[in-house]
Amino acid sequence: MNIQKIRDEASRALGRKDVKYLIGYQKGSYGFRVSPAFFQTKEEVERLIFSPLCQVSLAPYLTLEEVLPLPGEEKQKASKVALLARGCDSRAINQLLAEKGIPRDRLYIIGIPCEGVIDRRKIEARFPSVTEPAEVREENGKYIIAIGDQSHEISKEELLADACKVCRYPNPLIYDKLAGDKVAPRQANYDDITSWEEKPLEERLQFWLDQFSRCIRCYACRNACPLCYSNVCILDRLDPQWVKRSNDTSENLMFHVSRAFHLAGRCVSCGECERACPMDIPLMKLNRKLEKDVNDLFSYEAGKDAESKSPMTTFHVEDREDFIL
Ligand code: SF4
Ligand code: SF4
Ligand code: SF4
Repeated sequence: MNIQKIRDEASRALGRKDVKYLIGYQKGSYGFRVSPAFFQTKEEVERLIFSPLCQVSLAPYLTLEEVLPLPGEEKQKASKVALLARGCDSRAINQLLAEKGIPRDRLYIIGIPCEGVIDRRKIEARFPSVTEPAEVREENGKYIIAIGDQSHEISKEELLADACKVCRYPNPLIYDKLAGDKVAPRQANYDDITSWEEKPLEERLQFWLDQFSRCIRCYACRNACPLCYSNVCILDRLDPQWVKRSNDTSENLMFHVSRAFHLAGRCVSCGECERACPMDIPLMKLNRKLEKDVNDLFSYEAGKDAESKSPMTTFHVEDREDFIL
């Protein structure tokens, strides 16, 4: 990934009168962490980075605009937010546009063809207790990891985020400028889900009950999701109270099933929910099952374009109805 190309596009974006700020990444101050960051001037672009450590999606910030920093005085009237978008982010943006969650004319999208990112848990397990800021670059299928004056080489497959291993759309599907050459998509399939579906129902149910019994209902999964952007989530409602606040397996199951159905046909497989979960609950297993079902039943994948409506929000007379009792 050529960082200079990204910085050039970022500078051009910030030079536009209609762009108020750019959402990108900057170096973190601790270990393998990288911070989402806001850039308001061309001069600030020097601190913009993009590396295999940039795992966090920037797309959720688009629907948080009221809490984003105010632009400097000269940009108060500018209407657009610029951001870096990888393939999965671009799918989230498409889905938000299709749902009219954000207007297209408020966005300036710098597309980043994406080679995949590192799962921070995997790299921290490999290099525990690293506190000084580390840097990583990809070279010939390996990650070159610089920690202080030490350099380490690790195979890419060992550290790659699981969501990236099954990513079918690494290239942005919507953008104003593309910062880099397109990359070859991986050959991804649903073999993991097919073999999971073959397990007895009781075993699968017990698996999820065990998983959800560990959930602490911190809602990090919901808050990190670019497609969970309701002003008032049903989980926060007290009147009526759809899901009790008590943290027990039954209520946790209700939360996760509600969320899964809310995301069915809308989830773009970015993996943010699983990344954010402090309890390591394998939420992508559930999301990918729903994604596969929606694909099988309706030949639909969320976020491929900004016009298609999710099957759960539309009706056609020829829709399948064999599930209706
Ligand atoms: S899911 Fe795809 S687009 Fe997103 S970070 Fe991974 S490889 Fe890149
Ligand atoms: S449910 Fe998870 S994988 Fe799907 S869009 Fe939300 S954060 Fe991404
Ligand atoms: S992030 Fe994990 S622990 Fe927190 S609510 Fe979601 S599944 Fe539960």
